Amino acid sequence: MKEKIIDDDVLNYDNIDYIKINYDVIYRKIRHPRLEFKTGKLIAVLPHGYDVNILLNKYKNWIYKKESFIKKCKKEATFRKLSDRSFEELKTITAGILRNLTEKSGRSVDKVSFRWMKTRWAGLHIRKNSPLKASLSINKKVKYLPDYLVEYILFHEIAHLQEKKHNRKFWEIIKDKYNNYEEMERELFIYWFKISGLVKTL
Ligand SMILES: [Zn+2]
Repeated sequence: MKEKIIDDDVLNYDNIDYIKINYDVIYRKIRHPRLEFKTGKLIAVLPHGYDVNILLNKYKNWIYKKESFIKKCKKEATFRKLSDRSFEELKTITAGILRNLTEKSGRSVDKVSFRWMKTRWAGLHIRKNSPLKASLSINKKVKYLPDYLVEYILFHEIAHLQEKKHNRKFWEIIKDKYNNYEEMERELFIYWFKISGLVKTL
């Protein structure tokens, strides 16, 4: 019999049935089941009484592709270096970058706060009754990122002053400055694993 060597990074669809999939199940009052990868973990959101295996079976190729991508990112995470800047330094560079970005757009962020967040790097809140005012929350984990990624995150958030949703128009704005934005998103994903491993007790 021919022996098969399975490389970690190579997709081998023949072996999918033997791969152990780690997932969480959440039951909700919904009509259609769905799968999500929330920060690297597979979550099946199901209507009550739905058999999770039906869904896992139907989307096994997609799940395997995602799992392989995540595995690869986690591996790459071991080679990334974390910044050792202090919170004070993070606040200073953030203020500088924001000043530059908002000067050009003519709009401003009037409140910036830093806190530990579980699922995202930052979030912009635009007030309904005064659309020109916005407050920005930045994940404290950003402290560990290299400068160029801090700049990217802030550029992303400030772009939301022009376009709220992650639609085509939004990514056009991003692409205008970051032609390589997919690479940047991937780097952020890799750092997310690296940093989450470091500060998971918080
Ligand atoms: Zn966004």
